[in-house]
Amino acid sequence: MKLIDCNETLRKVEQIPFIANENKAFHEGCRYMQKKVLRIFHESKSVDAEPVRHGHWIDGFDTDGILIDYDCSVCNMANDETSNYCPNCGAKML
Ligand SMILES: [Zn+2]
Repeated sequence: MKLIDCNETLRKVEQIPFIANENKAFHEGCRYMQKKVLRIFHESKSVDAEPVRHGHWIDGFDTDGILIDYDCSVCNMANDETSNYCPNCGAKML
């Protein structure tokens, strides 16, 4: 699945320039297809989504300089091990 900004796409479809053409049937066909595409977008289901947050693991050391944990750069949550996503805030780790 590819998530897109539907409102931006609708504006672009609405703004497609049609060159005045002597072929009236072709011009009307283009307008017809434009309306069909707009209707498809308006009738499409939406999904809940939020932007992906990116973070990285920061080595956490104790006062003796011993590595004791890994801290999420987004929420600062300390973790015993690294993973692809922060288990606390869901940030995608790079
Ligand atoms: Zn986090």
